[in-house]
Amino acid sequence: MHQPDSQPRPSLYYNYQVHAPWLPSQHGPQERHPVAIVGSGPAGMVLALELARHGVASVVLTAELQVSQGSRAIVFTRRSLEILQQVGVADRMMQLGLPWRFGNSFYRGQPVFRMEAPHDEDDRFFPMLNLQQQYLEEYLLDACQASPFIELRWGNQVTHVSQQQGYVEATVDTPEGPYTLSSQWLVAADGGRSGIRSQLNLEMEGASYEGLFVIADIKIDLPLPTERLAFFDPDWNRGNTILMHREPHGIWRVDYQLPPGESPQEALRIESLTSRINAQLEMMGYGGTPWALDWSSVYSARTLTLPDFVHGNVIFTGDAAHLLPIFGVRGANTAFQDAQSLGWHLAFVVKGLVSDQLLRNHSKERVGAAREIIEEAGKSTRFMTPPAGGFTLLRNAVLSLSLSQAFVRPLYHWRTSRPHEYTHSWLNSRGDDNALFKAGPAHGAPPQNIRLAQDDYLLDHLGGGFDLLYFTDQPSFPEPLLQVVTHVRAQGVPLRVVAVSAGDVVQGADITLHDHSGHCRRRYGVPASGAAYLLRPDQHVCARWLTLDATRLQAALDTALLRHLNA
Ligand SMILES: Cc1cc2nc3c(=O)[nH]c(=O)nc-3n(C[C@H](O)[C@H](O)[C@H](O)COP(=O)(O)OP(=O)(O)OC[C@H]3O[C@@H](n4cnc5c(N)ncnc54)[C@H](O)[C@@H]3O)c2cc1C
Repeated sequence: MHQPDSQPRPSLYYNYQVHAPWLPSQHGPQERHPVAIVGSGPAGMVLALELARHGVASVVLTAELQVSQGSRAIVFTRRSLEILQQVGVADRMMQLGLPWRFGNSFYRGQPVFRMEAPHDEDDRFFPMLNLQQQYLEEYLLDACQASPFIELRWGNQVTHVSQQQGYVEATVDTPEGPYTLSSQWLVAADGGRSGIRSQLNLEMEGASYEGLFVIADIKIDLPLPTERLAFFDPDWNRGNTILMHREPHGIWRVDYQLPPGESPQEALRIESLTSRINAQLEMMGYGGTPWALDWSSVYSARTLTLPDFVHGNVIFTGDAAHLLPIFGVRGANTAFQDAQSLGWHLAFVVKGLVSDQLLRNHSKERVGAAREIIEEAGKSTRFMTPPAGGFTLLRNAVLSLSLSQAFVRPLYHWRTSRPHEYTHSWLNSRGDDNALFKAGPAHGAPPQNIRLAQDDYLLDHLGGGFDLLYFTDQPSFPEPLLQVVTHVRAQGVPLRVVAVSAGDVVQGADITLHDHSGHCRRRYGVPASGAAYLLRPDQHVCARWLTLDATRLQAALDTALLRHLNA
């Protein structure tokens, strides 16, 4: 019988709420659910919220009675905030989170490189926002609880899944014993140690690295701005690296590498943590400043992915689908993109709008994203924790040269998480003008945000369904295009016409965005009236035209819905 911990987790800054378990005896007979989601981490809850936007109900099964232990993911990228805006939690993130855009690297105590992440006036969100994962989960949870499409079952641990003909049966253990839950689709969002992945005997591809790292969150008053700090090869931890980040509530994350051979148990002893943190503070000139430990953990770097996320009617997402190193803040930030993608792909299949081939597209796109991240993350990981003599030599050469040679310093800058572009997606139009554009987001890219007015941005108006972004100086949306839009909508496909106009309201469009200065047109590479972009429900571009007609629009929609495969 599953007995989750009912004591609130300890924390110096976060009040854990313990939720009541969902017990089968208190509910009637169980019907088959369209979607069951195992896990209420970032991936599970963003997925449930995305499905809800499409009117698809889900039941979320989660083993614990409270949100995640410790701060875990603390750095959220701009694209993540754009995704979180879509599911209604970005405002709360912004209220408490600490935005930042600079990173400082030090070698043996000397500053050697200052990284600046690009940020311009068209961006609603900063490149990075620091906030502890408990808050993110709390905000997502509140949004889930407010949705009539989401049922969250605390204290429900999935112990076994069994694929049936066209559906899945899960054995769910609770504090009063097990029950069976049947669903058409089951999504494993059960984290890095996914029991479902193990039960199905699925092998991951990629590499695991040997170095171990400690994460310690301490409460301390340091007079420093919110910027990433990276210390290479300091006197107190020769050959290794220390990262530091500021978090809300006066918490600092200290993240350091352990010497080879030291066990996690030894590293997490309070005496060991204290002496290392004191040595770090001493090196920074803050020796003797009082501090208190909030949470500590040990992790290693892995770059692993499942080669396919869809197995029968079981789909893997987030950390259950891949394990990525946290350098470059790739874990949760990638999980949001997975969940956002899966949300609309799965909703369209559940609603019968497309064949389940669309899920193959999701898997292909997101496995491609994981492989790209693994390639990039592998480079940073080999720099942070060199796996062999050659890599160590290279790293030491870069580090020592950086003291005198400016040209090597940018090598310190490991790339942080960025959204994958679905350049080769099956959903991209073949007969459009993608190659003819000189600016703007290309096939598969997420859209560029544009500031339209004081507190009004382009992305505030996009997403959820398909959006046809139509640039015009005419007073109305052309009738032949409207007929295509009306026909597709009549089939249940959500599609909105968003007119971008230098003039008045455009008749026939669902909404008109005013671009009096022509700034939006320029950034989207639009030379003349009548150009358009087609965006998927996850906002990525799947077609763009310098001039649009009804035949080309219909063809692009057929491609995006994989209907050309059935023709
Ligand atoms: C120490 C640490 C620091 C990190 N720092 C960062 C960072 O700075 N930036 C970043 O982007 N990422 C970071 N990450 C990674 C980030 O926390 C994860 O990538 C993110 O939480 C993944 O979300 P997820 O929903 O896929 O999985 P998880 O958050 O792990 O959620 C899994 C969920 O499944 C539930 N569950 C598991 N098994 C079962 C079961 N059998 N039945 C029912 N429920 C089950 C769990 O209770 C949990 O709710 C860090 C992770 C750790 C551990």
